[in-house]
Amino acid sequence: MSAALIDGKAISEAVRKEWKERADNLKAKGVLPGLAVIIVGDNPASKLYVSNKIKACHEVGLHSEVHDLPEDVSEKMLLKLIEELNQAKKINGILVQLPLPKHIDESKVLEAIKQDKDVDGFHLYNVGALMTGNTVFPPCTPFGVMRMLSYCKVPIAGQNAVIVGRSNIVGKPMAIMLLQEDATVTICTSKTKELEKHTTNADILVVATGRPEMIKAEHVKPGAVVIDVGINRLESGKLVGDVDFEDVKKVASLITPVPGGVGPMTITMLVANTVMAAERDSGNVPTD
Ligand code: NDP
Repeated sequence: MSAALIDGKAISEAVRKEWKERADNLKAKGVLPGLAVIIVGDNPASKLYVSNKIKACHEVGLHSEVHDLPEDVSEKMLLKLIEELNQAKKINGILVQLPLPKHIDESKVLEAIKQDKDVDGFHLYNVGALMTGNTVFPPCTPFGVMRMLSYCKVPIAGQNAVIVGRSNIVGKPMAIMLLQEDATVTICTSKTKELEKHTTNADILVVATGRPEMIKAEHVKPGAVVIDVGINRLESGKLVGDVDFEDVKKVASLITPVPGGVGPMTITMLVANTVMAAERDSGNVPTD
């Protein structure tokens, strides 16, 4: 068997068109959705992520602005900027690119973002809302994975979903979203014994560990759907996921590539969250 590809780039283009239409509807009513991105320091990977996010905003026709702060900016200055953006009328979404330098308290910064503008969904209020099934800002990466699965018509209810990784930004919200759609969910961590005993039980396997190509064919049940969230740059410069793509595609039925899989979907759902925030702020929430 050789798996069919879940083409994140193509799906993302199609999904962005839906959101461009919603943004155009708002613009016709005089509302321009706006995203502010704050980046601290010169981390090349962060710079690249931010420039891709801004590119996506341009593509969909949103207002976007980047606040580029030096590595040694004080926490106080950063919090002051967030407060200004919280008050700014033309800004519907605020995103602070992570990671932040060590001298800045990440959770304090995330809590400072007004919950109605928290397009990344990392504010404690939004984490709680997700937990209780009332989310308005689903975190972009798991939101993107869910959209990909629905786009590919992958059944979720009653399926065994296994997530490898339990970070606050990927693994845990991913588990909650799959549970919400009635999957039977297992979460594996670095402490899990006999990982393959769990992963070979998965109809849907989502991997987010940051360990290059750790998931091999023997970890995967024949016919499973495999979603690789990982993005790792090898010393050679090559970009790979947490799944050994060439090996696993021999047994999976559907698989995401890296690059061109979950990455573009994450950015698309950031655009979606920004447009939805603008719809709510302006009282233009579509009724159907
Ligand atoms: P974290 O480092 O925060 O979390 C990694 C998780 O993987 C931890 O829960 C850890 O377990 C678990 N883990 C590590 N090694 C193993 C192992 N051998 N077996 C089982 N579990 C293991 O990473 P993130 O969730 O932030 O990111 C994961 C990957 O996804 C990275 O490559 C990152 O670059 C990528 N990423 C991609 C995005 C995209 O848009 N495509 C967005 C965000 C992240 P424990 O808790 O026990 O330590």
